[in-house]
Amino acid sequence: MHTNSDIETKLAGKGIKPTANRLLVYRALTEASGPVTLAMLEDSLVTVDKSSIFRVLTLFLEHDAVHAFEDGRGVLNYELCTTDGACNMTDGHLHFYCEACHHSYCLDTIKTPELVLPEGFTPHSLSFVVKGLCPHCRHSH
Ligand SMILES: [Zn+2]
Ligand SMILES: [Zn+2]
Ligand SMILES: [Zn+2]
Repeated sequence: MHTNSDIETKLAGKGIKPTANRLLVYRALTEASGPVTLAMLEDSLVTVDKSSIFRVLTLFLEHDAVHAFEDGRGVLNYELCTTDGACNMTDGHLHFYCEACHHSYCLDTIKTPELVLPEGFTPHSLSFVVKGLCPHCRHSH
């Protein structure tokens, strides 16, 4: 379990000042079992108004405290950056989107490849999403 001071340290490492809402959103992300959508965060943070949640997420994204990827529906999914301090995207991994239950899964053991881009291109994020059936849905079919 993360204490508020753990979270404050994480945020400070990303250059983010801790506020009550930022701590709440960060905590919700640590407690999520996988990547979450804005709607899922809104459901778990009923005490925080929706525009504040979105503003906090946008700030977290700008500071690489969270990473986002589009799931199979084109909906953004958010997850915490696992790197302390500045992130150079080495924590990137594959994601799996289940077309039956609309759940996104982290496939942490499969890292995204290091790309060598042509000169002049500066990557900021990359995502690999595989779509199909998750083990749970495969069994119920
Ligand atoms: Zn990262
Ligand atoms: Zn599924
Ligand atoms: Zn992930």
